[in-house]
Amino acid sequence: MIQLIRGFKDILPGEIELWQRIEAEAKSLFEAFGFREIRIPIMEKTELFKRSIGEETDIVEKEMYTFADRGGEMVTLRPEATASIVRAYIQHKLYAADPVQRLYMIGPMFRRERPQKGRYRQFTQIDAEIFGVASPLADAQLIFLLVTLFARLKVADVEAHVNSLGCPACRPDFRAALQAMLTSVGGSLCADCSRRRERNPLRVLDCKVPSCRAALAGAPSILDHLCRECRRDFDELQAALSGLGVGYRVNPRLVRGLDYYTRATFEIQTGALGAQSAVAGGGRYDKLVKELGGPDLPATGFAIGFDRLAEIAGVGAAGLQPRPDLFLAALGPESRSLAFDWACRLGRDGVRVEMELGEKSLKSQMKTADRLGAAHVLMVGETELNDRAALLRNMQTKEQIRVPFEGLAERIKTLLDAR
Ligand code: AMP
Repeated sequence: MIQLIRGFKDILPGEIELWQRIEAEAKSLFEAFGFREIRIPIMEKTELFKRSIGEETDIVEKEMYTFADRGGEMVTLRPEATASIVRAYIQHKLYAADPVQRLYMIGPMFRRERPQKGRYRQFTQIDAEIFGVASPLADAQLIFLLVTLFARLKVADVEAHVNSLGCPACRPDFRAALQAMLTSVGGSLCADCSRRRERNPLRVLDCKVPSCRAALAGAPSILDHLCRECRRDFDELQAALSGLGVGYRVNPRLVRGLDYYTRATFEIQTGALGAQSAVAGGGRYDKLVKELGGPDLPATGFAIGFDRLAEIAGVGAAGLQPRPDLFLAALGPESRSLAFDWACRLGRDGVRVEMELGEKSLKSQMKTADRLGAAHVLMVGETELNDRAALLRNMQTKEQIRVPFEGLAERIKTLLDAR
């Protein structure tokens, strides 16, 4: 038997109801805040991700599904959404009518990481981006959206972590200070960090290897190196969060894995997921639109790990399962053909209706109705054929009424609508 690819997964009926609920909550919340949906391709030119995410990142170095297509072009299954959304913003000149655009998307991403709980090779992200707003109020609004969504989905044990990564004016100074410190502890760093030390030293800050953590105990803090503007924005972000009553923790070690971030970065962390503590992350990327060939416009955004969110949502899939309003139980070919006709008409009119299409005993059909949790059962057998009226049973009260065949579908619809 052919099994699915390691790190990929199916989301089956029974789980999908929770996914649909999360998706519906996210969409209604985003739309209340003026976000509009954008759908981007699953595959892009490899160059897009290399240039935006950065050549020296784990994603680009080790995790992308990249291959030459049959025409020899290098293409990549998207590992994240921001690069494509920025490309679309530039390519379709979305900024021309109004530089301020609020966009969201929900869809699968691909990274060839080592699979484990909470970490998959195909996973889904809910992504939101605000273009054209430099004010840290945009960052505060994004964090507020995350916290609100998680509260609506009854996610317990979450904490917002915030940091500033500085800007091209102040980050080099910090980078130099950090690099000097890393040189002094060189021997105790893991292999990855020894390599990153020269080219991407900030990444060393969030290494989870215990020896690196110990070696970095005295590492300089980026927050001591911020320029005036970065400091001002970071203070304003915190004031806005406090004003909104959003609890947060300043975490100077929060650097995140993608090169394009500047100034505010944030993550929503949870204790509920074991090793994979980040359920959402994001931040400002003021230089990316220009770097990818667009105008010099600021932007900020986040991505939520949908799979992780589904694992920790307090609203379970139970209770979200759809139940039929009506189950039609028919005995004999003539009854079945009548019932089939009613079932199709009622379904067309929006009644949730099910019936057994094959030949089954009444007992077995009633069992199925029970298993599905049908609210009503409509029975037709020989007696009902003779009387030209079917029997409608309310499964909860056990009350039964006779419904004449004449105009039956309309009558049933009216009866069910009236409940
Ligand atoms: P990133 O795009 O790396 O900033 O990730 C944003 C969010 O996506 C993370 O906080 C995770 O919740 C989720 N995520 C990232 N990688 C994976 C993965 N391999 N499997 C499941 N979720 C992931």
